Amino acid sequence: MAEAATQQQPAAPSHSSSPEAETVLSREEQKQQPLYTGRVQVYPKSISGRVRRVKWLLLGLCLGVYYLAPWIRWDRGPGAPDQAILIDMPDRRAYFFWIEIWPQEVYYLTGILILGALALFLATSIGGRVWCGFTCPQTVWTDLYMWVERLIEGDRGARIRLDKAPPSGGKVAKKSLKHLAWLLIAFVTGGAWIMYYKDAPTLVSEFFVGESSLTVYFFTGLFTLTTYLLAGFAREQVCTYMCPWPRFQAALLDEDSLVVTYRGWRGEPRGPHRKGQTWEGRGDCIDCKLCVAVCPTGIDIRDGLQLECIGCGLCVDACDTVMDRVGRPRGLIAFDTDRNRIACSAGGEPQQPKLFRLRTILYLVLIGAIGLFMLGLLTFRSDLEVNVLHDRNPLFVTLSDGSIRNGYTIKILNKDRAERLFTLGVEGLEGASVAVIGAEEGSGEGTGEAPRLGAKPDTVASYRAFVLLPSGTLSGKLKAFSFVLTDEASGATARHDSVFRGP
Ligand code: SF4
Ligand code: SF4
Repeated sequence: MAEAATQQQPAAPSHSSSPEAETVLSREEQKQQPLYTGRVQVYPKSISGRVRRVKWLLLGLCLGVYYLAPWIRWDRGPGAPDQAILIDMPDRRAYFFWIEIWPQEVYYLTGILILGALALFLATSIGGRVWCGFTCPQTVWTDLYMWVERLIEGDRGARIRLDKAPPSGGKVAKKSLKHLAWLLIAFVTGGAWIMYYKDAPTLVSEFFVGESSLTVYFFTGLFTLTTYLLAGFAREQVCTYMCPWPRFQAALLDEDSLVVTYRGWRGEPRGPHRKGQTWEGRGDCIDCKLCVAVCPTGIDIRDGLQLECIGCGLCVDACDTVMDRVGRPRGLIAFDTDRNRIACSAGGEPQQPKLFRLRTILYLVLIGAIGLFMLGLLTFRSDLEVNVLHDRNPLFVTLSDGSIRNGYTIKILNKDRAERLFTLGVEGLEGASVAVIGAEEGSGEGTGEAPRLGAKPDTVASYRAFVLLPSGTLSGKLKAFSFVLTDEASGATARHDSVFRGP
């Protein structure tokens, strides 16, 4: 059976017999209550079971994806990075397999963040804190660190004894080995994060011979340190005090959300039970506290749903083990709904959880709509864009012959991996002529041909353009028109609306 829990619950205040005193602490008791409670070291005990197996599976999957993804290659042609997932800061590009995102398309990132948030809302309203308990990086890395800790220092009882033991060679050796292993994991984790920003094989070959930039060393060091501190030392304190999610996740739960629940109606009155004793007139909880001993946040789920509970479900496995041992049905602690808890406490029957409710349907509809919208944007994404900026000063110039000239900066976004040649024209401005500084020879002003503009592969080409209107052509102070850029090879066009200003 589990060792007695070392996590201490705050002592219940003693109450006087007056009715007010049953809910309000006396002045003396208030003085004795500390404003802040010191941290109580948690020594979670290892446990096996169905939930633990799911957690191991997800842990392996999450870590596998995180560490290996930067090593996946994706051929994009000559001159382009061949890393499947890469955020190329110097060239301002984000690559995800066949998708290449330009800075102007940052709305894709916004869409992904919105989808992520909605998926989190949906998961929470269905399964409570499943994200926190199973896939949150803080949980995954803490789990990994605890696994290493157990491997080196032993399970809960051995770790408690080791911490209490006076300094010795064995203790120093175990602690040093543990911290070395933690630092190694932290370093690999920090390094892997940098690989999402720089070609992984190049980074590794440069890193260990001192050829990486200071930025790379700085951020690897920073992420190594934060992983080591958060997963090795801060652990459950991150979830309880640093993370904002537990504060507002209650707003996403309702009576049909599946949360880790102690079925008090079945477990109470609790108390020790000896083999052969009757179960008549008592609850199934034998008060062994194994559920507390395995809890990574050190709480007692029998006190009800608490902010500290990350919904990891390890207490479910713990209690199922105990129930198997004492020959009672599993599920004294289980993922259950508040509706069932209330119904069963009143002697009713449990119901199947309702997955499709107004809020889950709403989240699903929003996820579907935004997902489809983003898919449409990606499918019909153009590999050509033109941006035009009208000169601010001067807004127009009147030439000696009375004609009016406006200046513009034209930016051609060639998202193709091939060099392209375009012709630039205007629409909606009768009698206008266009001249471009840097246009191809034999085109543009004085040649009778529209200016031809080149753009190198996967770059932004910038040109200065001047639009000229003969004297007396412009009626009014301004006229709206469009620049039209046409790819000479494919005939693809891009337009940008602008205005022509006059006196
Ligand atoms: S709920 Fe289960 S694991 Fe927890 S003390 Fe009771 S019997 Fe033990
Ligand atoms: S109470 Fe249970 S579900 Fe909640 S954190 Fe502790 S072990 Fe995990």
